[in-house]
Amino acid sequence: MDKPKILIVDDRSENRLSLELLLNEIDCEVVTATSGNEALLQLSKHHVAMVLLDVQMPGMDGFEVATLMRQNSKTRNIPIIFVTAINKEQKHIFHGYEAGAVDYICKPFDPTIILAKVSIFLELYRYRCDLEETQIELRDQKRILEKLCITDDLTGLYNRRHLNNILKQEFERCLRYESPLACLMLDVDRFKDINDTYGHSFGDTVLREFSRRIRFTLRASDIAFRFGGEEVLVLLPQTDIEGAKQTAEKIRLRCAAKPVGDANQAVTVTVSIGLASNPQHQAVLHNDLITFADNALSRAKEKGRNRVEEYTRL
Ligand SMILES: [Mg+2]
Repeated sequence: MDKPKILIVDDRSENRLSLELLLNEIDCEVVTATSGNEALLQLSKHHVAMVLLDVQMPGMDGFEVATLMRQNSKTRNIPIIFVTAINKEQKHIFHGYEAGAVDYICKPFDPTIILAKVSIFLELYRYRCDLEETQIELRDQKRILEKLCITDDLTGLYNRRHLNNILKQEFERCLRYESPLACLMLDVDRFKDINDTYGHSFGDTVLREFSRRIRFTLRASDIAFRFGGEEVLVLLPQTDIEGAKQTAEKIRLRCAAKPVGDANQAVTVTVSIGLASNPQHQAVLHNDLITFADNALSRAKEKGRNRVEEYTRL
């Protein structure tokens, strides 16, 4: 953590200097201001842990500075120690500020008291910084966990659990706004043979590369899910049947174009794709789209694989 900054505000240079000298004993950085206006300027420039604020200053006095600080969300929570020559009996003046972290010291000040008060406030400041840091870490961890929950380990695509939520959501949107929604079901051809011939580890390599090529072809708004073993489902929001055919064909070509390999072997892997789309195919329930696309995929397999087939009603 950087050294905490303390702002000293006093119109008299000898007061600023003596406070500054005193604060040298503490592990902190001192910033100074000679007036209320300058104090506000310094507060806008520096992230300050606390303010030692002279009450009696020409122009804007310490109370006015404090009031303005409380009205600004950036400075609202900065602790203030008022430094005043006003008689202790008048300490009721400070009651209005006691809701915030506020204290006061009287001039001529006692170094021990100042150091004790400042140290307490700095401790609170460090505690708050730690807390903020922890909160940020927790938020990051939560984000990572949420991502892990909906991601398939092997392929990095979304998993099936996430599909259930997204498909419902996209399907409702497509009905409500009468916008098209297409669904592709993709399956690696003869994947069992690949596994049997080259081993499961190579099979995994194929699935990863297959997923990478799919992702590489899609637009940012398209969403790919690992549906089953070697099956991937792609949702194409705002995409009509012609657009979906083009995307499917691009994926098919990209898969067949280059062999998939590791250090030991390279194999040409093809993909069969079934496609269904609303409003074209009049899916009534969101799962109908999956059934239709799956149906079309079966036909692509029957017709010889490495091809795209559109759903047709029997
Ligand atoms: Mg003064």
